[in-house]
Amino acid sequence: MSRGGHKAVKDDLVEIVEDAGERPLRTAEDLPKWRVLIVDDEREVHSATLFALKDLIIAGRPLEFFHAYSAVEARGAMENTPGIAVVLLDVVMEKDDAGLQLVRAIRDDLGCADTRIILRTGQPGYAPELEVIRDYDINDYKTKSELTRTRLVTSLTTAIRSYEQIRMVLESERGMDRIVRSAPALLARRNLASFAEGALRQLAELLDDDGADAVFCVPRAPAAGGQDTAPWYVAAAMGGHARHAGCNVDDIRDEGLTDALAQCRKSGGWLHANRGMTLCVGDGENRALIYMQTRRPLGDFERRLAEVLSVSIAVGLENVALFQKLNFFAYFDPLSQLPNRANFISKIDECIRRGEKGWTVAVIDVDHFSDINAALGHQTGDQLLKAVANRLRAGFPAEMTLARVSGGTFGLLGPDGALDPEQVLALFERPSVVDGQSLMIQPYIGLERLAEAEGSGADVLKNATIALSRAKSERREHWQYFTRDMQIATQQRLSLLHDLRHAAEAKRGLSLHYQPQVDIASGTVIGAEALMRWKNDRGENIPPYRFIPVAEYSHLIIELGEWVLRSACEQLRDWDRAGHAGLRMSVNVSPAQFRDPNFVGMARRCILGFGIDPGRIELEITESMALTEAETVVETLHRMKGFGVSIAVDDFGSGFSSLGHLHQLPLNRLKIDRAFVSDLSAGSSGATIAEMIVKLGRMLGLAVIAEGVETGEQLDALRRMGCQEVQGFYFSPPVPAGEFPALLKKTL
Ligand code: C2E
Ligand code: MG
Ligand code: MG
Repeated sequence: MSRGGHKAVKDDLVEIVEDAGERPLRTAEDLPKWRVLIVDDEREVHSATLFALKDLIIAGRPLEFFHAYSAVEARGAMENTPGIAVVLLDVVMEKDDAGLQLVRAIRDDLGCADTRIILRTGQPGYAPELEVIRDYDINDYKTKSELTRTRLVTSLTTAIRSYEQIRMVLESERGMDRIVRSAPALLARRNLASFAEGALRQLAELLDDDGADAVFCVPRAPAAGGQDTAPWYVAAAMGGHARHAGCNVDDIRDEGLTDALAQCRKSGGWLHANRGMTLCVGDGENRALIYMQTRRPLGDFERRLAEVLSVSIAVGLENVALFQKLNFFAYFDPLSQLPNRANFISKIDECIRRGEKGWTVAVIDVDHFSDINAALGHQTGDQLLKAVANRLRAGFPAEMTLARVSGGTFGLLGPDGALDPEQVLALFERPSVVDGQSLMIQPYIGLERLAEAEGSGADVLKNATIALSRAKSERREHWQYFTRDMQIATQQRLSLLHDLRHAAEAKRGLSLHYQPQVDIASGTVIGAEALMRWKNDRGENIPPYRFIPVAEYSHLIIELGEWVLRSACEQLRDWDRAGHAGLRMSVNVSPAQFRDPNFVGMARRCILGFGIDPGRIELEITESMALTEAETVVETLHRMKGFGVSIAVDDFGSGFSSLGHLHQLPLNRLKIDRAFVSDLSAGSSGATIAEMIVKLGRMLGLAVIAEGVETGEQLDALRRMGCQEVQGFYFSPPVPAGEFPALLKKTL
C-alpha cells in the first residue's frame, strides 16, 4: 500500500506473467521507483546529480528523476507529481531565499509532510537558521562542495528510508482511520453472510486488492460449550474462491486453501502461507477463519492493520451472534425451542396470504397447567411443557407448524386432513413421565378452519382460543371448532364484563330481589332466596343468566358474592328488627367463591357481624359443584356446616348424581330443578324424577324444596309426593326488599 498507488507509477510496472491462470506476482523491479525532484537554477547541477545517482537502487527500488529550474517551477512540479520522496533543493535561485520560500510552500501550502528535503547551497553564508531546519522538517543541509557522490548517496538513502517510514506511519494511520470509520457500517450488519462479505471487502481494501481470492468461514451452528465439533462452512467468498460460498470447508477441493484454514484453526492468530494470509478471528462460540490471497509478502504494518481489523471483525461477529440470539428470542420460545406466539401468528398470516383455504389452526391447552406448575414447581412444569412439545413434534409430520402460544398452550397449523383433534388427543393417551412422576396430560383443543376464517392470523388465533375456552368450560368434548356465534357471544361478554366491573366498583345498579320460600304444610313464608339484579348505566336490566357466568369466569363473582352475602345478612337483620323474625335466607354461591381461601372467614365475619344465627343462612351450591369439585370444596362445606350454616344443592337432578358421593356431603336440603317442576303431569319424566328426588331426600334425611312452581297443579303434585317447600311465580316472583314484608301476610 505504500507503493505510491498512483496511475503514472502503475503504468510503468512491468508485469511478469507466471503460470497460466494465476495472477502475476510482482518482483522487486515492479515496485514503484522512488521519485526525486531536483531543483536548481544551474543546469550542470542537474546533470551532475543525475550522473552521481545513476542506476542507484535504494531499499530495492530504483530512482526516477524530475527537474525544476526555479522555485516557481518546482512548486508546479510538486503540485502535479504525487509521491515525490525527496527534493534536492538549491537554496539560492531567483531570490536569495527562493529555496527556503519553497520549503515553506511545500510544507504549509501544499501540506506535503512526507516528502524529504535536502537543501544544497553553493554559498556557505546562505545557510538557513536552525529553526527553519527544525520547523520545516529539513532532512539535510549541505554545501554543494560538501556533497561528494558518496555523501549524496548516503544522504539520499537516509532521506528515502525516512520517507518510507513516514509513509508507513501515514498509511497505517489512514488504514486505521478507514477501519475506525468503516467499523460502524460493518458492525451494523446483522446477518452473518452480509457481515462476512463486508469484512472480506474491508480486508481486501486494506490490502489494496479488491479482487483478491478470499473466504470467510464459520462453524455451522455455534459450537455448544465451546466445543469445536460443528462443521465449518464458507459464509462469504470472493474472487476465485467465490464458488465456494455456502460449502462446507471439508468439501472444498483446494488443498492450499483447506490446509491454510486447518492450520490456522489449530494455531489461532495469524498465518502467512500458501500465498495468502489466514486469520483466526474471535474466540469461543464466535470464531471465524479468514483466508485472503496476497500477491506479495505483507509488510509488518499491513499485518498489524489486519490484526486491528480482525479485532473489529471479532466484535462484529459477536454482535451478529447476539442479534441472531435476540432474533431467536423474538420469534422462538427458548424452553420448547418452538416458534412463539408472534411467529405462529405470522405463519398463519402467511398461509392466509397464500390463500391456503384447506388449512386449520388449533390451540391445544394442557388442562390445569397452572395448578401443576404451582403444585409440583416450575421445574416440573417446564419439563411437562417440553414433554408436551415432544409428543406433538413426534405426532405430526414436519410440515405441520407447531408453536408455543403461551404458558401451557400450544399451536398447530396444518392441512385440514392432517390436523385431526382426535389424533391430538390420542397422542396423550399414555401418561408422560416428568421428573420421575407419571403425569396424565389432558389437553383441550380449540380449532378454526382458515376456509371459514375472516381477518388476520391474530384473529384466527383468537377465535381458536375462544373455541378452546368453550371446550374447557363445557367439558363435554375435549375439542371444539370455532363458530360465529361464539364470537358474538365473546364480544358481548367482554363489554358486559367491562360494565359489570364498573358497577361492582361503584356499587351502582346492583341490587337484590327476594323470592319467598313457602312451607307447603302451613302455607306460610319461611324464608327468601336472595337473587342478584343488575341495571346497567344505560338503564337496561341484565338478567343473571347473562352476567353471572361472566362474573364467574372473571372471578369478579368473589367480590360480588361477598356483597350479596353482606346485603342479604343486613336485610335479614332489618326484617328481624322490623318484627319479621325467624326467616331463613338462601344465598347462591359460585364454585369460584368456594375455592377462594378467604371465603369461610369472610362468610363468618359477615353473618356474625350482623348478629345472625348461622343456622338461618342457607348457601345454595350447584349440583355439579357438589359432585365434581375437588376436596377443597368438600372441606369448605364441612367448615361452613360446622359453623352452623345450612347447605342446599340447587338445581338438583340436572347434573349427574352419584348417590355415594352425595351421601358424604354435609347437606341440609335438595332443591328440585325447575325443569322437572315445569312438567309434573302424571307419568311424565319430570314427575318421575321429582318423585325420586323427594324419596332420595327422605332416605338421606334431607329436606326438599321445589323451585319454579308456577301453577296450583304443580303445587298439588308436589304436595302429594311429599315435598315440603316450594318457591315460584305461583306464590310470588322475586321482589325488591321493600315489597317482601307484604308477602309475609300471604298464604298458599
Ligand atoms: P337459581 O338459584 O336457580 O334461582 C332461581 C331462578 O329461577 C331465579 O332466576 C328466579 O327468578 C327464577 N324463578 C323463580 N320462580 C320461577 C318460576 O316460577 N318460573 C320461572 N320460569 N323462573 C322462576 P334469576 O333470578 O334469573 O337467577 C338465575 C340464576 O342466577 C340463579 O338460579 C342463580 O343460579 C344465579 N344467581 C342469581 N343471583 C345470584 C347470586 O347472588 N349469586 C350467584 N352465585 N348466583 C346467582
Ligand atoms: Mg338458587
Ligand atoms: Mg335453581
